[in-house]
Amino acid sequence: ASLGILKEKVPGENRVAIVPEVLPSFLKLGLEVFIESGAGAGAGYFDESYVDKGAKILAHGYDVLKKANIICLIHPPRLEDIAYFSENSILIALLYPLLNLDLVKQIAARNLTAFSLDLIPRISRAQSMDPLSSQSTVSGYKSVILAAHTLPKFLPMLTTPAGTIPPCKVFIIGAGVAGLQAIATARRLGALVEAYDIRPIAKEQVESLGAKFVNLPITAQDVEDRSGYAKAQSETFYSKQRQLIIDQCKKADIVITTALVPGIKAPKLISKEAVENMKPGTVIVDLAAEQGGNCELTVPGKTVVHNHVVIHGPLNLPSSMAPQASLFYAKNIQSFLSLFFKENKLSIHWEDEIIKNTLVVREGKIVHEKVLGALN
Ligand code: NAD
Repeated sequence: ASLGILKEKVPGENRVAIVPEVLPSFLKLGLEVFIESGAGAGAGYFDESYVDKGAKILAHGYDVLKKANIICLIHPPRLEDIAYFSENSILIALLYPLLNLDLVKQIAARNLTAFSLDLIPRISRAQSMDPLSSQSTVSGYKSVILAAHTLPKFLPMLTTPAGTIPPCKVFIIGAGVAGLQAIATARRLGALVEAYDIRPIAKEQVESLGAKFVNLPITAQDVEDRSGYAKAQSETFYSKQRQLIIDQCKKADIVITTALVPGIKAPKLISKEAVENMKPGTVIVDLAAEQGGNCELTVPGKTVVHNHVVIHGPLNLPSSMAPQASLFYAKNIQSFLSLFFKENKLSIHWEDEIIKNTLVVREGKIVHEKVLGALN
């Protein structure tokens, strides 16, 4: 078998799916590795560093698709590129199949097998394979750095001969992987941190990082699905949340929002009214921008200023830390591929729960239940 890595084609994407560091483990499995020239350059991994670890560089992505039978990507391939995949090859990427049904159909028509890493189940054995978590770690960290850079204030408390400065106050909404990393980062910078999540179970994790958990006087019904994701709530519930969050936001210097519900647009938790009640100079970083944003005034991909409050709606923060974000992603793939081999031979463990959950197309047949449901 052979592994192929392409340059990511999404504009502004600096990451690459595989970094040189993980190549030795693939060679040990007897895999040949083909890399499109320049695939890692945006992340600082140049062709030579892949060659040094035993990969072969090919000038064009199409050559890679011809030679390799397992193709690893971060973003879904472009529709027009599917025709160039070798028939019967295997594609591994963050396909978001429910949002990309046309692509899934093309993949099937080309007789490929496709795994989507956004469907990795949240079980402890799968943690090392989960790019949604690894990349959220990067976003959570970077959101605080971005906020700190924008905020015209110190984060830590300072006692100096020229006076004493109080610590800045950070409020984090959504204490999942990104939110917890944001808490840890803000704490390291010396800020006072408060955090809120709809899942009461998050309280303990928030407190273990030295932040205060905010209890809002509303309780969500049926809050969490089997895999630990938050479930959607009624509009009445969200509207109560928006009201209660206003007072929390008034006190903050930085607000970081990370609240997501799988499969639907991000809930709007910060109203225009909340922004208008914030202190001038407050900075919001809306990590849910990709899903439309948690703040009513967020413009995905832009920074807007409303009433002296700065609202960042960054897209793809992991790309801004491409070397290490790519390393995390590559390690996730490395771990996932362990389910593909038996005694150094390609032999996919079809019955494995992780394989079953992520398999979207098997040899030209769409097999994922949710995807089939969406197509009918
Ligand atoms: P996510 O990115 O889907 O959502 C981020 C956070 O937003 C979640 O904590 C969610 O509860 C919260 N949220 C949603 N709606 C909200 C609302 N209306 N108000 C306030 N908060 C709201 O989730 P995630 O960060 O990927 O992970 C969620 C959970 O899954 C965490 O407990 C995490 O530790 C767990 N997890 C487990 C594994 C594993 O075991 N393999 C892997 C990753 C995450």
